[in-house]
Amino acid sequence: MAEVSYKHCSLMFECPKCSVINYMDPFSFWNFKGKTKCAGCDAIYAVEYSNGQRVKGPDPAQGPHDKLPGYAQSKDYKTEYTMTGKVSPPLYARAPDQKHGPTYSNVRGKPVAAGKLTAADLVGSRARFIVEGKPYKPAG
Ligand SMILES: [Zn+2]
Repeated sequence: MAEVSYKHCSLMFECPKCSVINYMDPFSFWNFKGKTKCAGCDAIYAVEYSNGQRVKGPDPAQGPHDKLPGYAQSKDYKTEYTMTGKVSPPLYARAPDQKHGPTYSNVRGKPVAAGKLTAADLVGSRARFIVEGKPYKPAG
């Protein structure tokens, strides 16, 4: 069977050196310009993403890196990289032990489970991109 190439994929970054597939977490790499580190061989690459499309790179660069991929695995799916320092921890809209948004009191003084969210409450969520209002420009 012919080996599949992921070099044309935007958010699946195949390392040119070690062929490990680095999965760029869409929430943190959707609009990103900077350096990332391959989880397989620790090589540093300069990349640029706009609206989930890779517009520049991967170009070999010098460390330190800005962001790590969300997950990585070898092409034969036998080796996976989930260690801290190789891949980044998941990006949460709020802390994992926090069940809901901010709590408020209503006019009778009783706690209300959720209230109006601010832009800062939406960090890491898809809605944050809508709040920031970056206009969509197709690549190319
Ligand atoms: Zn590599």
